[in-house]
Amino acid sequence: MLMFHCPHCQEVREEQEFSYAGEAFIARPAAPDTSSDAEWGDYVFMRKNSKGWHWEQWLHAAGCRKVVAVKRHTFSHDIAGTWTLAEGKRIYLEEQA
Ligand SMILES: [Zn+2]
Repeated sequence: MLMFHCPHCQEVREEQEFSYAGEAFIARPAAPDTSSDAEWGDYVFMRKNSKGWHWEQWLHAAGCRKVVAVKRHTFSHDIAGTWTLAEGKRIYLEEQA
């Protein structure tokens, strides 16, 4: 069972209180009016399926009902941390730079 720290509630809660809400920080096409169907298809449907550290969004459905950014290892299920979306995105972008 996964245990998540909710940065909004400031409590560690069980996985059952959360709903997986998909991969985090997917970049929207910069120019949506001129994007091709293939670019929109990638944005809407294509997701990473990597073995390793992965940024995810989890909804604290049975708690504050806010979305939490989680960095989780997809093989070991270790959790590097949980953040608000704004905090998580800043860290994510620093890692990508
Ligand atoms: Zn919460």
